[in-house]
Amino acid sequence: MKKKIVIANWKMNHDFYETTSFLRNLLKFFFEKKINNKKKVIIAPSFPFLHISNQILQGSSLNLAAQNICQMEKGSYTGEVSASMLKSIGIHKVILGHSERRKYFYETNDILLKKIKIALKYGFHIIFCIGETALEREKNEQFLIVKKQLEETVFHCSLEEISDLIMAYEPIWAIGTGKTASPEEAQTMHRYIRSLFIDKYGETISKKMSILYGGSINDLNARNLFSQEDIDGGLVGNSSLEIEKFLKIVQS
Ligand code: PEP
Repeated sequence: MKKKIVIANWKMNHDFYETTSFLRNLLKFFFEKKINNKKKVIIAPSFPFLHISNQILQGSSLNLAAQNICQMEKGSYTGEVSASMLKSIGIHKVILGHSERRKYFYETNDILLKKIKIALKYGFHIIFCIGETALEREKNEQFLIVKKQLEETVFHCSLEEISDLIMAYEPIWAIGTGKTASPEEAQTMHRYIRSLFIDKYGETISKKMSILYGGSINDLNARNLFSQEDIDGGLVGNSSLEIEKFLKIVQS
C-alpha cells in the first residue's frame, strides 16, 4: 500500500525559535504517539533553518524539503541557493512549481524545467505543483491548463527521472483562500493527472506515483479529501503553521 504523504509548506513564516520549537514538539509527539509508518511527513522550513532542522530531525522518520532551488548550478547569482549547497547540508527534497513562485517570482514552465533538471542532477526528490486559476476553472479550462503545465515541464523527463516524483495538484483559487476543492472535484482532477502519466509513462509507475492535493486543507476537511482514491495526501500551507492543527491533519 502507498504511504500517505503530508507536507508542511511554511513559506516565509516561522523564525529560528518558532522553527526549532515546532520541530522538537513534533518529534516528541511522534515518539509518544508512535505515529504509524503508513504516513510520511515532510516539513519545508525557510532556507536559513534547514540545517538546524536537519540536525533536530536526524534519526527520525520526519523529512525535510527546501521550498525552492536556483536553476543555475553555481556562480554569480546574488541571493540564490543552489542544489549542491542544499545537498551539502543533507537536504534531498525540493518543492518546485508552486503558484506563488510562478506568480511573484515569474517562474515560467521553461525556468521550472531547468530547475527540475538541476534538481535531478543532484539527486533530489521533487514535489512538483500544478493547478489552474479561478478564471481558468470558470472557463472550464482546468484540464487543458494542467496538461500544458505537465507537457512543458515534467513530461520532458525520462521514466527513470520521474520514478521518485511527487505531484501536487494545487488549484490556485484554493491556495490560502479558505475555499477548498470538494473531494469529488479534487478526485476528478487527480484521476485525470494520473491518466496523463499513464498515457505518457505507463501504468506501473503512474499507479505508484503520489499525487497530493493542496489548497486550504484544514483539520476539518482533510479526512474527506485524503479518503479519495487518487488523493495520496496533502500539501498544507496555513494549517501547517500551528502544531495542533497540523497534527490533526497528519492523523487524518
Ligand atoms: C500551499 O501554499 O501550498 C497551500 C496549499 O497553502 P494553503 O494550505 O494555505 O492553502
